[in-house]
Amino acid sequence: MKKRIAIDMDDVLADATGRFIEYAQERLNWHITREDLNGHHNWAGIMPDQESEIRSWLHEDGFFRGMQVMPDAQEVLEKLHDKYEIFIVSAAVEFPLSMKEKVEWMQEYFPFVDWRHLVFCGHKYMFKADYLIDDHERNLIAFCEGQPLVYTAPHNIYLTDYQRINNWREAAMFFEV
Ligand SMILES: [Mg+2]
Repeated sequence: MKKRIAIDMDDVLADATGRFIEYAQERLNWHITREDLNGHHNWAGIMPDQESEIRSWLHEDGFFRGMQVMPDAQEVLEKLHDKYEIFIVSAAVEFPLSMKEKVEWMQEYFPFVDWRHLVFCGHKYMFKADYLIDDHERNLIAFCEGQPLVYTAPHNIYLTDYQRINNWREAAMFFEV
């Protein structure tokens, strides 16, 4: 039986951080780099005066749909898909509009992932898999039955408790595809 890998979307398959930087530049004329975001868990908290505006982007048409794909993610996920059972597990319910956009985004960039393998949820702890690739500690910490892998993003670079995957090339090496 194939081993099962649960894979997060934002900041794992999709460049959510890059999208935030793009919006910050366009909407607030705020020129921020990825390095500026190192160690920050809450984007909105970095600029307290703009917090409500920043939060509103997440509920705006097109915010999720316009995200770039992470480098090499398409090629590597297609290889993983042959060798493992893949589920895309996203805590998308917090942003209802994002669910439609995320389905369309997956169909455009990862058409080989069947819609039955997309899981939109709130918590992820009840999901059973052999591996979870995620950028958020709150998801990794609760994933007890399989191996949690932290996918590097600015907000998690100081996290040391998990095996780290820095990019999709490294994921390919880890999973030997
Ligand atoms: Mg994420």
